[in-house]
Amino acid sequence: MTPQLLPSILSASLLASLFASGLPAQGDVQIRSIKVTENIFMLMGQGGNMGLCIGEDGAFLIDDQFAPLSEKIQAAVAKVSENKVKFLVNTHWHGDHTGGNENFGKSGSIIVAHKNVRERMASEQFQAAFNRTVPAAPKEALPVVTFNDEVTFHWNGEEIRVFHVERAHTDGDSIIHFVDSNVFHMGDNFFNGNYPYIDLSSGGSLDGLIASTKKVLGMSDGESKIIPGHGTLGTRAELAASLDVLEVMRERVMELLEAGASVEEVVAAKPSEEFDAQWGKGFMKPDQWVGIIAESLAKSREAGDKKD
Ligand SMILES: [Zn+2]
Repeated sequence: MTPQLLPSILSASLLASLFASGLPAQGDVQIRSIKVTENIFMLMGQGGNMGLCIGEDGAFLIDDQFAPLSEKIQAAVAKVSENKVKFLVNTHWHGDHTGGNENFGKSGSIIVAHKNVRERMASEQFQAAFNRTVPAAPKEALPVVTFNDEVTFHWNGEEIRVFHVERAHTDGDSIIHFVDSNVFHMGDNFFNGNYPYIDLSSGGSLDGLIASTKKVLGMSDGESKIIPGHGTLGTRAELAASLDVLEVMRERVMELLEAGASVEEVVAAKPSEEFDAQWGKGFMKPDQWVGIIAESLAKSREAGDKKD
């Protein structure tokens, strides 16, 4: 999704039509490059944050926002890199991270992603949270290299680990770790400073998001630079702060569910109230965020019950 840019007053159906016709005002969008290290950049335009690693082997891009921005993204790459994008890694299937795939694929980039990204992009998808149907992507937009667990690139003098985290933001998420540079790109497993969107329709879950957040906390240190899917370039401390909110909310919502509350009753109880002023101003508004985590936990409780 395109979190911070879509006014919350837009109805789901209006949102759907906007997405169908492409987002408005993309002609005005500028691509900004934020230097992360000497050879790694975070690119921001409209949609999910991109990562770029440059060097003698060629440009390595993570995510590509929306199709109308591809030329601008390629121009931003050309400003810092003599080489075009050789590899393009998708962190997950959502259109604000893969919308440029067709253009990049046609211009010779090799698109790489978890196998579920290709599977979901190849067929029509429905996102219940926005009552939105996303059509199948054309062949040229699909990842041509897929993997199950992880794949490592040895590129531009970097060891670049791309590893899958299970059922977190979606069921096809990858996190990218530039091992030598101590840089991470977490895709939408990290919304720096805002409540994160969890796409339950695409196999995401709160527990998976907590696990992926803990995993990166365990791999990082105070010097790490963490590119979030949305929000500004992050630190380990900021990622830890987001985990605190996830864990407190999990406990509170689980308590309510165990006491017999329905998802609607959990939302009505406003368990996130103390965090809302700080965390609830992004794309995910408090009630919707609480509803999603309540639904996620209710689902995992049901699954647990069935196992007994
Ligand atoms: Zn997403």
